Amino acid sequence: MAMLISRRGLLRASLQVTLAGTMATAGIAAAADQACADSKMDTGLASSLHYTESAPDPTKSCSGCGFFTAGSGGCGACQIFNSTVNSKGHCDSWAMKG
Ligand code: SF4
Repeated sequence: MAMLISRRGLLRASLQVTLAGTMATAGIAAAADQACADSKMDTGLASSLHYTESAPDPTKSCSGCGFFTAGSGGCGACQIFNSTVNSKGHCDSWAMKG
């Protein structure tokens, strides 16, 4: 019985290490892709609106969007995502600043 518990413990520990490694790798990738996005960003909404840190068309970047308020370090606030976004970013809700 003691051996069974030990195996379960070993399996559990192994799964936790694997899961932690996977989450850490995903976190590093997300941080690299979304340097300005903060923890308040709705990642599901950002994904569905195809938010990117670098606008494919620089004339339609967040800095020129009516929902953007400039901040510091190239980042600013987005009213749509209620979070910080990159001034050079873009999403499908881009609307020219009035
Ligand atoms: S709504 Fe505007 S400011 Fe917000 S992410 Fe989209 S393009 Fe950028």
